[in-house]
Amino acid sequence: MILSTLPDLANVSNFLATKFSFEFLLCLALRTIRVWLKRDSGQYWPSVFHTMPVACSCMSFNPETRRISVGLENGTVSEFVLSEDYNQMIPARTFQAHQGGVTVVLFVLEMEWILSTGQDKSFTWHCSESGQQLGTYRTTAWVSGLQFDVETRHAFVGDHSGQVTILKLEQDNCSLVTTFKGHTGNVTALCWDPVQRVLFSGSSDHSIIMWDIGGRKGTAIELQGHNDKVQGLCYAPHTRQLISCGSDGGIVIWNMDVTRQETPEWLDSDSCQKCEQPFFWNFKQMWDSKKIGLRQHHCRKCGQAVCGKCSSKRSTIPLMGFEFEVRVCDSCHDSITDEERAPTATFHDSKHSIIHMQYEPTRGWLLTSGTDKIIRVIIKESIFEIEI
Ligand SMILES: [Zn+2]
Ligand SMILES: [Zn+2]
Repeated sequence: MILSTLPDLANVSNFLATKFSFEFLLCLALRTIRVWLKRDSGQYWPSVFHTMPVACSCMSFNPETRRISVGLENGTVSEFVLSEDYNQMIPARTFQAHQGGVTVVLFVLEMEWILSTGQDKSFTWHCSESGQQLGTYRTTAWVSGLQFDVETRHAFVGDHSGQVTILKLEQDNCSLVTTFKGHTGNVTALCWDPVQRVLFSGSSDHSIIMWDIGGRKGTAIELQGHNDKVQGLCYAPHTRQLISCGSDGGIVIWNMDVTRQETPEWLDSDSCQKCEQPFFWNFKQMWDSKKIGLRQHHCRKCGQAVCGKCSSKRSTIPLMGFEFEVRVCDSCHDSITDEERAPTATFHDSKHSIIHMQYEPTRGWLLTSGTDKIIRVIIKESIFEIEI
């Protein structure tokens, strides 16, 4: 169902909807910030829009204050307040936050801070009242994920080198707490659950890692359910579900109420740990036993180094986060029960390559915007579309 057709714009770089009612949609498209209002007929219609001097790159919206913070390609952050009837966008403040384009912006009402990261590889925080810069930190690479824990004032910064840096922020300085390294690709999305104290990171390496900070045991669980880059992550605390989306259009809803196990470390061996045939670099044993060297593989369940013959079978291992079939050794294959193979996630096709996703937990509405310039609102089984 097409709710409304809007003037053709070249690209939707971002969009966001309210936490409460979806009375309106907020969307960045090239150099414009656009608002659509939901009419009595149930259709969304274009309301106010504002044209910026350069392209918009990121946005943060605070429903309580209706404050829109927009990061721009020229390194500035511009702030607006949306009027109560959503028909007016009142300019509040513009300040130079970065030397290059702003990659992520985050408004924190409790601290009156605007956190931002830029192509100049810096993380900065400004006072949202005065626009004054309070502090800055050099990041290792471009940042594409940013989350903040109000209670402990920790910022989680995910970058293109694949690491997540955890910083403790004070009013005018910050200290490095630790870094998480687990991804082999860029960190593309971060999501923080302040109640369970769990951080989720999504990456271009197709995986999601759940960093259990609250558990205090250093547990990190991998979730493998995407065939392409992970583009967005949302957590629904009431139902304990993690929603992830990928650029292949896949949406995965993970049941986080199950206890998952960490994947084992891969073991090193010069010969198959099952049949003892030498691996190809083990010249001595190959010579002594007149055997051909084999390629090394690893069982995803026990981590043992095995040859291809001893690991010919595949299995899902949902409790280890493998929702797709992976290589397992023959003995592990026999030991996995059908119960253990029961999926712990559901898979959905959004039918477009997703750029951004927004989840509204109280009603269970999911919004996706794609490279096809379409915003999809998914309400239970029905999908509503808005063409940009
Ligand atoms: Zn073998
Ligand atoms: Zn095994």
